[in-house]
Parts: sequence; C-alpha cells; structure tokens
Amino acid sequence: MWMRQVKNTISEALAQPSQCCFCGEPIKDETPVLITLDLGDNQTQSMGTHGLCLQERLHPSIPFVAPDEVGSD
Ligand SMILES: [Zn+2]
Repeated sequence: MWMRQVKNTISEALAQPSQCCFCGEPIKDETPVLITLDLGDNQTQSMGTHGLCLQERLHPSIPFVAPDEVGSD
C-alpha cells in the first residue's frame, strides 16, 4: 500500500502544472488550472492548463470560473 502512495507522490511531483495540456505553452503569469483525473483504483493523474484554454474547449453551457476571476470582485 505504501508503495502505491510513494508512486502517487512521485507522479504528482513530476506533473508540475507548468505546461498547458491543451496548447502546450508554459503557464507563467497566471494561476494554473489543475485538472485531476480519477483513473480508479486510487490512481490519479494531474495536469495543468491555462484558464482560457480550458474555457475555450468547454461547452458554453458548462459553468467555469478561472482562478484569476475568483474573489476578484
Ligand atoms: Zn494553454
């Protein structure tokens, strides 16, 4: 069991959300949106994206607030 936890910790450390998973560009001047996939069996995969890149790909009927928009009122 602990091996799996170590493995998850390592993959999370490797998956720094420094590159956008949609456009491939670095995420520098904004808070990355972290997408975590639940792969079942306690396995997860995380990836980062620009808020705008995710918003462009979401259907307009899906509510989404980018991190930089949260609490900015
Ligand atoms: Zn992007």
